[in-house]
Amino acid sequence: MNKPKIYLDYAATTPVDPRVIKAMAPFWQEKFANPSSLHFFGQEAKQALDQARSKVAQFLGAKFEEIVFTSCATESINLAHKGLLENFYLRMKEKPRVITTPIEHKAVLATLEHLQKLGWAKIDYLKVDQTGLVSLSDFDSLIKPETVLVSIGFVNNEVGTVQPIKKIGNWLKLANEKRKKQGWAKIYFHSDVTQAVGHFKINVDKLNLDLASFSGHKFYAPKGIGVLYLRSGVPITRQQDGGSQENHQRAGTENLSFIVGLAKALVIVEKERSQETKRIRNLSKRLIKGLLKVPGVHLIGNCQERAPHIVSILVDGVEGESVLLALSDLGIAVSSGSACTSGELKPSHVLLAMGISPSKAHGSIRFSLGRWTMRKEIDYLIKVFPGAIEKLRRIGKGINKN
Ligand code: PLP
Repeated sequence: MNKPKIYLDYAATTPVDPRVIKAMAPFWQEKFANPSSLHFFGQEAKQALDQARSKVAQFLGAKFEEIVFTSCATESINLAHKGLLENFYLRMKEKPRVITTPIEHKAVLATLEHLQKLGWAKIDYLKVDQTGLVSLSDFDSLIKPETVLVSIGFVNNEVGTVQPIKKIGNWLKLANEKRKKQGWAKIYFHSDVTQAVGHFKINVDKLNLDLASFSGHKFYAPKGIGVLYLRSGVPITRQQDGGSQENHQRAGTENLSFIVGLAKALVIVEKERSQETKRIRNLSKRLIKGLLKVPGVHLIGNCQERAPHIVSILVDGVEGESVLLALSDLGIAVSSGSACTSGELKPSHVLLAMGISPSKAHGSIRFSLGRWTMRKEIDYLIKVFPGAIEKLRRIGKGINKN
């Protein structure tokens, strides 16, 4: 029998939607010009760039000039954090402080740690509970006169927990009103919305966001294109010097075909979101029900506040990496929480921060569903999963004679 090819790693990246490829096609040869060129070729390219920027702005409820195209979420996150904190560092007497959580993507954590190492910022970490949720009541004790930034991801990429971004945004709005009276700096609000854009309505005004970062390849646009939403008036120092592209915030000739693709992908997301989210949520529920039938399998993340596309589990008595490889042998692509560093498996920082012990955290597996996930694929997975786990446990106990 031919091995199936089942892709359940959509949170890592998605294939490009054929409708996106079609929208991008004219921009390789026919409309190839540099949007900064003044001739008619350039103006045609500029028009396409403007249209794409308008679509992205519309999607976020933002203004045209508030959209900065970058190469990926990581770059947007770097620009947001380094840009803002450098700007404050150079004009504040005290070191600027930033509040974040220990379960952010490495793009956020490593960027902030870098700034802290340079002596340009001080990080304050909000605790998360065992489901990965932050609590609003913890903000009060962390906020200081020098706090200038709060950075909290919308959807956690490993466990799918959704943070109360709207409540945090409202809370910060009120806190900022009080700070203004005290003559303290405004606290800007950044969210890494990379895993949220494909599944949630994101209106920057309703969420009170000042900055937001994401990548196109998580919602069926190509890899290599990202967005930073930058509210007008947010003081950042640009990190890539050169020309005046992107409203002077990010120099370099724009990647027009990818920008057009990203905008098209967002239009599709908007149009299909309500139906597609329902479909994926139902498939996830079916998957969770099936997986939990296996003894020693536990769902992680928050049961209510969770993204539709991410299902994360812990499997007692096995390494996540071994489960990943066993499922890969059966034609199913998933990911595990542990990262291999210098030949050693390191448990995920997210799971450790959620209070999961290192030995248990080694058994984590993430399934992530998407536009082309079919019910029969989920059913196949549910069918072969118990046998795969049983086999791994037998091998672990050394009673497999093969
Ligand atoms: N933030 C989150 C939540 C992510 O899931 C990812 C990618 O996995 C990133 C940031 C980084 O995205 P990219 O590698 O496209 O820059």
